[in-house]
Amino acid sequence: MPYRCSRCDKQAIANIKYARLRLCREHLTTYIEKKVESILRKYKVLETTRRIVLAVSGGKDSMAMTWVLWRLSQRYPIKLLVTNIDLGIDGYSRRSSEIVRKYSQELGIDYIIVKLEDLLAYNIKSLSRLARRSTCSMCGVVKRYLLNLIALESKADYVALGHNLDDILAYSLKSFLSGDYISLVKFTPITKSIDGIAVGRLRPFYKVYEKEALLLALTNKVPFIVDECPLRPESSIEFHIKSFLNSIEEEKPGIKIQWINNLEKSLRDIQRNLDVGENLRVYKCSYCGLLSKSNICSFCNTTKRVLGRPLGAELRETIKRIIMVKNSPSI
Ligand SMILES: [Zn+2]
Ligand SMILES: [Zn+2]
Repeated sequence: MPYRCSRCDKQAIANIKYARLRLCREHLTTYIEKKVESILRKYKVLETTRRIVLAVSGGKDSMAMTWVLWRLSQRYPIKLLVTNIDLGIDGYSRRSSEIVRKYSQELGIDYIIVKLEDLLAYNIKSLSRLARRSTCSMCGVVKRYLLNLIALESKADYVALGHNLDDILAYSLKSFLSGDYISLVKFTPITKSIDGIAVGRLRPFYKVYEKEALLLALTNKVPFIVDECPLRPESSIEFHIKSFLNSIEEEKPGIKIQWINNLEKSLRDIQRNLDVGENLRVYKCSYCGLLSKSNICSFCNTTKRVLGRPLGAELRETIKRIIMVKNSPSI
């Protein structure tokens, strides 16, 4: 027998076990939107005018995030710039970029699509082969670097990432298990900008379950690319951690949201202590001047090793030109 929505007379389409709610399409949307709005308000992202660069791959999470932030942009003074990086992965990258382009045009959001091959003359596959690194880790280095550059050059306050609650728990647990405790402090809903060298990051879906992001996209006709990246390994560690977390959630509904709330709180306490005590050491890359883990950033280090010279500074000039052309009034 179909169930009624807990908030109105319509038929429920989702059973949110951990919140003991059955919700219709409309109330499900409101429920998820409220979660996003409340986390952004908590960190004072929505009060004053903010320019936000959205990292959009074309997958369900980043596309659903685009839709929610676009809705919020009707009520709050936030300016959005959708960014997509075409990594040159067979047909996959082109199709993803096309979905992102069309949807941004449909919603009337500014967008920028950059092609790795145009910037470096290599696609991600050949670059990682030359660097003898896995494609996923190379992809991470390139995307992080480019997003930071685009955000810096477009004078954005934040880069918004589509990571959902399940992603964040999986990444943080992976960091914990591999002994990389320093990385754990990064898994906050928001990180601060560091003047001129790094733009802060936002995770608007910090409290949104993966299933909720999918439902939000499906029920609001948000387009997204269904297939996974063809270069992704068959079964990643994250995949195993997520299935493990899901089986616990099945038995104890709400355990995942409880854990993410605890993680958020502990990390805030740690950061507060760091603010009064000794800060984490910040390095600047000696080639490009951007945020780095040591004297040379991963991007400059890789390009120097593989292509003969560090390309960070040159790339910054190119991105600056692309953004200047984009912002110049058309004649
Ligand atoms: Zn309802
Ligand atoms: Zn560098």
